[in-house]
Amino acid sequence: MAQGAPRVVIVGAGFGGLEAAKALARASVEVIVIDRHNHHTFQPLLYQVATAALSPADVAWPIRHILRSQRNATVLMEDVVGVDLGRKCLRTNVGEIAYDYLIIATGAMHSYFGHDDWAPFAPGLKRIEDGTRIRRSILIAFERAEAAADRATQNKLLTFVIIGGGATGVEMAGAIAEIARQTLATDFRRIDPTSAHIVLIEAGPRLLPTFPPELSDYVRSTLMNAGVDVKTDTMVTKCDSAGVDTNSGRIDASTVIWAAGVTASPAARWLGAEADRAGRVKVGPDLSLPGHPDIFVIGDTASVTDAKGRPVPGIAPAAKQMGKYVGKLIAARVAGRKDGKAFRYMHLGDLATIGRRAAVVKFGRLQLRGFLGWVFWSVAHIYFLIGLRNRFIVAFIWFWDYLTFQRGARLITNTEPQPPTAPPRP
Ligand SMILES: Cc1cc2nc3c(=O)[nH]c(=O)nc-3n(C[C@H](O)[C@H](O)[C@H](O)COP(=O)(O)OP(=O)(O)OC[C@H]3O[C@@H](n4cnc5c(N)ncnc54)[C@H](O)[C@@H]3O)c2cc1C
Repeated sequence: MAQGAPRVVIVGAGFGGLEAAKALARASVEVIVIDRHNHHTFQPLLYQVATAALSPADVAWPIRHILRSQRNATVLMEDVVGVDLGRKCLRTNVGEIAYDYLIIATGAMHSYFGHDDWAPFAPGLKRIEDGTRIRRSILIAFERAEAAADRATQNKLLTFVIIGGGATGVEMAGAIAEIARQTLATDFRRIDPTSAHIVLIEAGPRLLPTFPPELSDYVRSTLMNAGVDVKTDTMVTKCDSAGVDTNSGRIDASTVIWAAGVTASPAARWLGAEADRAGRVKVGPDLSLPGHPDIFVIGDTASVTDAKGRPVPGIAPAAKQMGKYVGKLIAARVAGRKDGKAFRYMHLGDLATIGRRAAVVKFGRLQLRGFLGWVFWSVAHIYFLIGLRNRFIVAFIWFWDYLTFQRGARLITNTEPQPPTAPPRP
């Protein structure tokens, strides 16, 4: 890297940020990648951490390690809190960092649609910590039910509510059903884990609304066959410590999981930029901030439309395509080459799994379901994992779990001591 090379600061080492950094590997620039975590998380498999199939280290990698051989890249673990557009510098929890080019790739977070007070009772799944927290509450529910004195308490403990019928909600519901009906079926003496009540609530008329209706119907019937109580056209009106209220009645539950909505990171506020209803920054055709050709916003934080004017979805391939595009664009500018074309999103397809032998896949005209869909889903996810070690480990774990119905990461960690109540036992 040449002395005094332009500095490209990338905020967020998710799918978009990492791809942008890699696209700048050969450019004469100094790349600084900032993330509040020391690891990149493969969010599509986070639900497997939450349901004890995989361990956190199977789906996350140190950012420093991923970029270890990229000589022009430096990784900083810091929390960005603002941008000073006038002075061209970022404000972080440890100080300021100047930039020549800025790429914001800070992703999205849960949205409780104006009910942030529901968050403590209905945690969402976004970070590794969320995965282990949900895993803990699912496994503890079974443990406490085994120790509970009466049937009513057991029933409440063994009721799991998942709010949101998109891919994450469907995957969580299918996996919890599997834990209850297969993995834990013979492990307890006082309770019958197979009697667990798993409720999937969706406000709209069907599950997986981005898939064709026939695949949504298939997912619904597969989940119902697995014992999931699917409630569509059902609106949650309140979450509290004892369950949820819906427009069709109360459900008492010890575990409630939020998979219903996301909002972009606060980047629009940092930049004083126009945002869409989901808080995503409205960017120009080259993903730059209007009026600021040196600032780019990508991935889940950006509001972008495709060639047909449809919004680009908040999924990993979209974030990666944006990251690659912006990295190449900056590399071209620094090299004095003419800027390329406007960003064009290419939709590769949609995938969702419903347990250990069923998934739905839509790739252009190709539609798969059932076991074939599951094989396709598994191969695609293993392919996109980072690192040979993780690919081998995850492939082996899935194969083993497939044969044995087991889930190897059934650890309850960070538990609070149980209150010293000693109710009479049955
Ligand atoms: C549970 C779940 C399942 C999903 N399943 C799928 C799927 O099956 N297929 C699919 O294609 N997509 C899936 N997605 C969506 C996909 O993960 C996102 O679209 C993708 O991660 C977006 O990439 P990104 O680079 O914009 O942001 P992210 O990958 O979210 O990365 C953002 C990064 O920014 C960092 N960051 C945020 N704020 C700050 C700050 N202030 N300072 C410093 N660092 C910060 C974060 O730590 C994070 O590393 C799923 C998402 C979730 C949550």
